[in-house]
Amino acid sequence: MDSKSFPVPNSTTSFWRSDPHPFDSHRSTENLPSAADVVVIGAGYAGASTAHHLLQHTDFAHGQRSMLILEAREACSGATGRNGGHLNADPYNRAATALESVGKVAADEATLFEVRHMKAVGDLIKRENIDCDFVMTRVTDVCLYEEGATRQKTKIEKLTAAGVAGLDDVFFSDHKTAERASGIKGAKGCVSHTACHLYPYRFVMHLLRSAVAQGVNLQTHTPVEAVSSEPDKEGRWTVQTPRGAVLASKVVFATNGYTTALLPELAQKIVPVRGICSRIVTPKPYPPYLPTSSVLHFSDHEYDYLIQRSDGSIIVGGARQGFYNDLGSWFDVYDDSELMESAEKYFDGYMQRNFHGWEDSEAYTDKVWTGIMGYTDDGFPYVGNVPGKQGQFVVAGFSGHGMPQVFLSAKAVASMIADDARLEDVDLPQLYHSTSERFASKQRHISLQAFDAVMQKIGPKN
Ligand SMILES: Cc1cc2nc3c(=O)[nH]c(=O)nc-3n(C[C@H](O)[C@H](O)[C@H](O)COP(=O)(O)OP(=O)(O)OC[C@H]3O[C@@H](n4cnc5c(N)ncnc54)[C@H](O)[C@@H]3O)c2cc1C
Repeated sequence: MDSKSFPVPNSTTSFWRSDPHPFDSHRSTENLPSAADVVVIGAGYAGASTAHHLLQHTDFAHGQRSMLILEAREACSGATGRNGGHLNADPYNRAATALESVGKVAADEATLFEVRHMKAVGDLIKRENIDCDFVMTRVTDVCLYEEGATRQKTKIEKLTAAGVAGLDDVFFSDHKTAERASGIKGAKGCVSHTACHLYPYRFVMHLLRSAVAQGVNLQTHTPVEAVSSEPDKEGRWTVQTPRGAVLASKVVFATNGYTTALLPELAQKIVPVRGICSRIVTPKPYPPYLPTSSVLHFSDHEYDYLIQRSDGSIIVGGARQGFYNDLGSWFDVYDDSELMESAEKYFDGYMQRNFHGWEDSEAYTDKVWTGIMGYTDDGFPYVGNVPGKQGQFVVAGFSGHGMPQVFLSAKAVASMIADDARLEDVDLPQLYHSTSERFASKQRHISLQAFDAVMQKIGPKN
């Protein structure tokens, strides 16, 4: 096992994981079962959502088909347990790219799929009364450079002209009003639309606990070392772990940035990218109030995103200004046990620097942590069958933007498993489909010029 490409021990502790859930290191049984109908690898947002949706199907709900979740470290200790908590369905950036590269139908699908996550996740939280600080708000997506602001405006105009869905909620403020509309110093343009935020770790831990209560076997601290490349005579796959092997009729790779360690066919398709996030607090009893969540773009590739929690603290991630040129510190990196040295101090004075009204807040950085994202070659996740391996499924590669993409992607995979539905018949944007053509394609997505530039600089990977 190449230790480079697997989750590492001693990961940095995120704010979200500073108070571990009782199921954080849960093992439903002392030993692994020798076989399971479905083995889900990874207990993050994608793995937990897959389990949740499978349990909506009678066979799984009634225990006629068994499910095992294998997690390398603690439950929800990957990107989901260390992200920005921002469920920010993007109605214009990715849509504009999709419109340009593949056309209106694909742009509509991709946009609406993200937008629908806000309701789908919000409804579940309400229905099951999940204690995870869910807030529906608006986001101000701000450009601090003229060129970017002009591009924001152009994208919205093009999408509107093409009649792409999801824009009725989107408003643009130009250089005259952007600073006032966003409260962000030096804003040159600002797009606002509906967005949500939540406590991602608590949301996922609820799904996992509920799955276990319904009979799912959850095994933390159980890394999968390999999955056989050929099935046995009965069509079952051998899932190898240091605690023994499990035979599985279906295997789901919900392994995000770590996927290529188990599925080498996705090498150069999903690349691990290290991100950084922080919590900022103030000693004041009533910190300045932010009416919206925010995204701050400093250049095409340097941006931050932030939410304010009900206790007044801020969760802010990004900090690319601090490390973007230091490639080796973030690109093709699997290790979330360390911070990026060049970005460690980035968040100090952040609110005072960027937000009107925060100058006297005495805000300071309380915590900084890192996490591993799975960036894909074309900017969209790989969801569906693993080509050529019947019974293997992938739901991975959310390119640092999983909160509005994962939940319904997992639903699509659950329906392929439980109902034998075909990829083309499930509710999933075509841009996400894990087709053999996409696996083989060398074509790059326009928004991933940065990815290409990086690949050129570092040369092809083995
Ligand atoms: C710092 C940071 C900030 C982010 N901020 C945001 C944000 O604000 N909004 C947003 O939309 N997205 C954000 N993201 C991205 C978002 O967190 C991810 O897209 C999403 O959580 C992906 O969920 P997942 O379940 O696919 O991956 P993960 O949560 O990473 O789960 C994968 C799991 O698989 C396990 N695993 C991997 N390999 C193996 C193996 N071999 N055996 C067993 N288990 C294995 C891992 O340990 C992990 O628990 C951020 C990510 C980071 C790192």
